[in-house]
Amino acid sequence: MAFRKLRADILFTGKELLYNHVLLISEEGIIEDILPFPDGMEGIETFTGILSPGFINCHCHLELSHLKGAIPEHTGLTDFIYAILTRRNSQVHTIDQAIALAEQEMLDNGIVAVGDICNTPLTLPQKQKQQLYYHHFIEVTGFNPAIAEQRFIQSQQLYQQFRQLTEKTGGHVSMVPHAPYSVSPELWTLLQQFSGSQLQTIHNQETAAEDEWFKHKTGGFKAFYDKVNMPADHFTPTGKSSLQSYYHRFNSKQPVILVHDVHTTTADVHYMQQLDQEQQRNSWICLCPNANQYISNTLPDIPMLIENNCKLVLGTDSLASNHQLNIAAEIRTIQAFYPQIPLVQLLQWATLNGAEALQISHQYGSFEKGKQPGVILCSSDLQSVKRII
Ligand SMILES: [Zn+2]
Repeated sequence: MAFRKLRADILFTGKELLYNHVLLISEEGIIEDILPFPDGMEGIETFTGILSPGFINCHCHLELSHLKGAIPEHTGLTDFIYAILTRRNSQVHTIDQAIALAEQEMLDNGIVAVGDICNTPLTLPQKQKQQLYYHHFIEVTGFNPAIAEQRFIQSQQLYQQFRQLTEKTGGHVSMVPHAPYSVSPELWTLLQQFSGSQLQTIHNQETAAEDEWFKHKTGGFKAFYDKVNMPADHFTPTGKSSLQSYYHRFNSKQPVILVHDVHTTTADVHYMQQLDQEQQRNSWICLCPNANQYISNTLPDIPMLIENNCKLVLGTDSLASNHQLNIAAEIRTIQAFYPQIPLVQLLQWATLNGAEALQISHQYGSFEKGKQPGVILCSSDLQSVKRII
């Protein structure tokens, strides 16, 4: 059998950087082997830069792509959410076009798999084309306990539509809570009963106002709920941080991807790790640095998360809060603020860790025999990315 032989300045395997090695891969992109570069080997395709498995985008909202540039930067989260709620409706053909362009942008930027938040069926037609692997996260939202059941039934209908899609196209689907501040305990209970061992994700501690709300029932979310005329009488503050108020609600053994984590503290991480151990759960911290910069001009304490052995992955969030859907651009932002983090570690978050988080590491995330992870070529400064296979 004839294999393609690929070589570059650096071969990133998903776990380590190799120099002077050749990747042996079938025409279909199935990994055969990695060999030390032998003198005299013929037919080698040589590239300048870094060869890497395809990137994994663990957090996106493809259905918000038409809001690119529509919301000003640095408004803070509650004003951002308000802007989304009031502006998300648009002409369907505009939305469809924006979704198609955004997906193409991800393909061009070497992304092969996406964890995509869905509140609507708007992305179904594009996803039928099967250009990317998707885990569709059907997001459940409802702060008012009186509408928990109604909201849950609506989300279940959407879940069924995406379920039918996955039966034809592959991929996976799960029902997930939007954020700690937007899901009532009644709605959480319905989710717990439904979600079994499915992969979960949640927007976690994206703003300091979230912790203030749980601790004291004051701050930005108090103002937000007043502004949208949402009664909050039923909500009792816990006196604890957001994460320490809700994390116990995930079922045991249920993998969780916590997205943003801008205000997550060492105490929160320890609480999470303790519960994970007791409940035999895997959890991942998904960083969306460019979205944090866009919305609030801030970033999580990434060195603290590394020091505490959190499993880190990367996401772009949506074009409503990002100028591009590009994992390499997320890495560059982290490098600009935290230049001490080794490249190999950042690339592993973008590939193998992401694949493990989305439960697809049998195929994606690393150059190991039998996998079909996609092959991308990055310039050494990560300014350019292109798909090779
Ligand atoms: Zn998001």
